[in-house]
Amino acid sequence: VFRVLFYLISAIVLISVLRGVIGFLASLFSQAAFGTGRRAPVSKPPAQSPTHSHTLKRDPVCGTFVPTSTNEQIERNGETYYFCSAACRAKF
Ligand SMILES: [Zn+2]
Repeated sequence: VFRVLFYLISAIVLISVLRGVIGFLASLFSQAAFGTGRRAPVSKPPAQSPTHSHTLKRDPVCGTFVPTSTNEQIERNGETYYFCSAACRAKF
């Protein structure tokens, strides 16, 4: 009976030691992954500039700045006018 108990205890100890080693290795790997991950955000800020590259044109009716991608636009005398809404375009 004692021998079985001894084997059981030694097995439990072995498993816990193995778990500790695996956990230690996992933390090492995650540290390595975070180490490379920390460098990536540094190169991120330049990626935000495209959102500001949208050219804004002033709505001649209400004075609001609207992106040139808007559907509310009119071409008059060779110039394109951009509007914030269909109502502003109708007033123009
Ligand atoms: Zn407007």
